[in-house]
Amino acid sequence: MREDNSGGGTRAGGAGTVPGSGAGSVLTAEGRAEKIREKAGKRILAEWEAERALLSARDDRHESLDYFLDLVKAPPSPAEIEARLRSRVVGVVCLQAPPELFLALGLHPYRLYGGSQNAAAVAQPGLPALMCPLLKSLMGEMTADPGTAGIPWILPTTCDWTSGLPSLKDVYFPGSGDVRVVDLPRSKENPVSTEGWFLEMAGLWKYLKTLAGRKPSRGGLLAAVGTVERARAAFGETVRLRREGRVPAVWFLLAARTFFLDRAENWTRAVEGANKHFAALEPRLKNGVFLTGSPVVYPNFKLLHLLEEAGLSVLGDDLCSGERLLFRHVALKDKSVEGVLRALAQTCHDGCLCPVFVENKRRLGPVVEAARECAVGGGKTARPPGGDKTAGSAVRGVVFHLLKGCHPYEIDSVVLERETRRLGLRFIRLETDYAAEDRLTISNRLEALRPTLDAGD
Ligand code: SF4
Repeated sequence: MREDNSGGGTRAGGAGTVPGSGAGSVLTAEGRAEKIREKAGKRILAEWEAERALLSARDDRHESLDYFLDLVKAPPSPAEIEARLRSRVVGVVCLQAPPELFLALGLHPYRLYGGSQNAAAVAQPGLPALMCPLLKSLMGEMTADPGTAGIPWILPTTCDWTSGLPSLKDVYFPGSGDVRVVDLPRSKENPVSTEGWFLEMAGLWKYLKTLAGRKPSRGGLLAAVGTVERARAAFGETVRLRREGRVPAVWFLLAARTFFLDRAENWTRAVEGANKHFAALEPRLKNGVFLTGSPVVYPNFKLLHLLEEAGLSVLGDDLCSGERLLFRHVALKDKSVEGVLRALAQTCHDGCLCPVFVENKRRLGPVVEAARECAVGGGKTARPPGGDKTAGSAVRGVVFHLLKGCHPYEIDSVVLERETRRLGLRFIRLETDYAAEDRLTISNRLEALRPTLDAGD
């Protein structure tokens, strides 16, 4: 094992050759690799347990939330999920792979994104210093559990970091599982792109059928659409309750995180149960904010805790680890297999608000929508001319979470800041990573933001 003196803690190499460590440096002796895995695994587990202990000790913990806490007892392992669900697990790097296609074939989609600071710290030496923390953490998870690299991956080409991930995987985990690349068109307004995206979906469907080794019936595909629509309806109700100030951000994002860790039916039932509990809670609308930007992923709930400590209520988000999980309903007009594939392709492409697309005019939509839905009636604050779209809303500001190295969201933040300020909302951009060192800085900035939320512009 090699000590990293750059502040990232002890780093471990993967099972492969480590670039930059001298020609022929090989870390493949099984005993050594096992030791590295064990140490990395312990560090990651400790972080998961610490966050879970924090959530478990909260005053607002309720028995209906234990289902979600149970699913994060330990970092997920594809082998464990496969054994528990008796379904083959397939990794998905982004939401641009409709879960319906997997479920129709008896496969289980497992979202690949790392939220662990310790996993990022045990990621292989030689990775780019400013690598997206989420993907660096994923690389570290593979060090601890090479099974994550061994399962087949579906990788939509969203940002540059994501598109480069297969190359890094090849370097550090040579010969591991297949990566099926799904070529994501960056323009939504070009009919050629729309057709190209449908063909990608049809190709993905064919690939998954081969993986599953079975021919699905049209009925099976429609049933899977129904299963995910029920999940959408349940989650949509959680979103509605959140607009009323009844769903703390930590519980909301924990629920979203666990969608990929159990059968959709079980998850839906648990969300419905939690909704009953949330509906009975007193609303907390004071100092309401909308959270946007790079994903916030369990166990790194640093920002959510800091928001809460600063007295801010998150009333909505458009994170791909949050509300965007099950964002749009599938508009199913044509129920042939091709019709369903087209509808799914359209839902996850047109409906996606990720800033990797060229046309991002709709990025502001969820902020305005949430602001309208959070109307408290009358509005306590005078708004500037032209800023009446959010008058009377409990959403008073936008918190932009920017992971260091995340270029699409960095560009997006510039545009969104201008637009949200025009609406009369406060805006704050918090550039951070998974490390704890900037807690105080973030906390001070949020404390400074709070009194301005009621002050108007
Ligand atoms: S969009 Fe940002 S957070 Fe998501 S994978 Fe790319 S760089 Fe990372």
